[in-house]
Amino acid sequence: MASRQVCRIGDQGEGICFAHDTPQNFTTTFTTGSAVMFADGIQICVVGTIGTTTCGHHTRATTGSGLSGATDGAIHRVGDVGVVIEDERGTYTATTGSPSVDSL
Ligand SMILES: [Zn+2]
Repeated sequence: MASRQVCRIGDQGEGICFAHDTPQNFTTTFTTGSAVMFADGIQICVVGTIGTTTCGHHTRATTGSGLSGATDGAIHRVGDVGVVIEDERGTYTATTGSPSVDSL
């Protein structure tokens, strides 16, 4: 499998949130990351990273890679997914990441 760009604080994912009367497409922007791992000088997102969505909810990263010497949790990468925290009513897929740092 090809390596994938790692997500950093400020990177984004796209998904659909069902915690509304009508499901809404949203963009989530990651707001938390590893305390010890950086890409491009920015903290790397890991499983458990929180995001804030354009629909007014929050997301939590649920998949990532444990490879590449991760010391602070599995690295969240483009193509990894997460859930809407509020009742876990929705999911997203990470869509943007580092232009220079990949992770298997
Ligand atoms: Zn929502």
